[in-house]
Amino acid sequence: MHIETKVIHSGREISPFTGSVTPGIEMSTTFERGDDGSYPKGFIYSRSHNPTRHLLEECITELELGTRAAAFSSGMAAIMAVAQALEPGAEVVIPRDIYHGTARLFREIMIPWGLKVNFVDFSNIEQLKQYVTRNVRMIFVETPSNPLLKLTDIKAISELARKADAVLVCDNTLSTPISQRPLSLGADLVIHSSTKYLGGHGDVTGGLVVTREETDFFDKVRFLQQNGGAVPSPFDCWLIMRGIRTLAYRVRAHSHNALKVAEYLRSHSKVREVFYPELTGIFRDQMALAGGLVSFRVKGSVEEAFSVAARTKLFTRATSFGSYESLIEHRASMEGNQNTVPDDLLRLSVGLEHHADLIDDLNQALTP
Ligand code: PLP
Repeated sequence: MHIETKVIHSGREISPFTGSVTPGIEMSTTFERGDDGSYPKGFIYSRSHNPTRHLLEECITELELGTRAAAFSSGMAAIMAVAQALEPGAEVVIPRDIYHGTARLFREIMIPWGLKVNFVDFSNIEQLKQYVTRNVRMIFVETPSNPLLKLTDIKAISELARKADAVLVCDNTLSTPISQRPLSLGADLVIHSSTKYLGGHGDVTGGLVVTREETDFFDKVRFLQQNGGAVPSPFDCWLIMRGIRTLAYRVRAHSHNALKVAEYLRSHSKVREVFYPELTGIFRDQMALAGGLVSFRVKGSVEEAFSVAARTKLFTRATSFGSYESLIEHRASMEGNQNTVPDDLLRLSVGLEHHADLIDDLNQALTP
């Protein structure tokens, strides 16, 4: 089945009780036991199992070509569960260029917790090989990366992971399963911040972990979900599933608009550098669409970058991405003092407005 069809039909069932076509939201926190003390419908208590969450997990499992999924209350909760599924003392390799929240979680929570974490440049596979020793238990990839939109070769890294017998985790938030299916490229687990494109409307926070195979490692993730308790509400699960129904067309439109915006910025004399995936090389091998994020450096001072952001009218100055409306963000000041991005860099989340209006807006902001 094509992905456009799968996003409509995955994790969807007509209610056997009412015939309702859109699934209801199962808010009940607890479920009735049978006379014999059993749980006839398989549900016990909402933290451990919830019917609406179950549908979302089925849905993302099908889209990412996995076997099981676990939904969390945020992308960070999903990443935290995957990190805590390791034993203290385990070694992890993660890219230097990665979402700053993930870097902070590993640096400030997981290292004190007991993990040994190496931050490495993933664009240099030869150098990376030196870090992927037999002691490494997990390699964490984010491709494209946030906010520099660097691509990482998932297949090449999965071979390194296989040799070291390490788990390969891929954060697929920026691509979504519409564009990239990391499990079919050799990753063991996929992570999503469903707050972004999956939810798609800027109104729900969530995270997902999908596994390629049923493993003890994923059982541990499930255990942490159910017993750590960072689960999403049934309403949040429902909102994410509603977003997923239109994901294929939204990601296509975001990508179309972002490419136009990136091309425009590349030709502007006040722009020093534009970051948007090159549609060649690794892109061709593993992605279908480049997504809606574009980063660029403004010539001049950091103040000039702030001024450009302040002059935009259609782009709202706010963090996050993946929603229908366009956002602009001065990234270094958002990331704080451990940031690794140039201080003249602005990140755009290109929304679903007409690209010509967005380009007009950037034009008046760059050349007032
Ligand atoms: N992964 C990536 C690539 C992100 O960009 C983000 C947030 O921006 C996260 C994970 C964390 O997700 P959340 O904000 O839903 O916790």
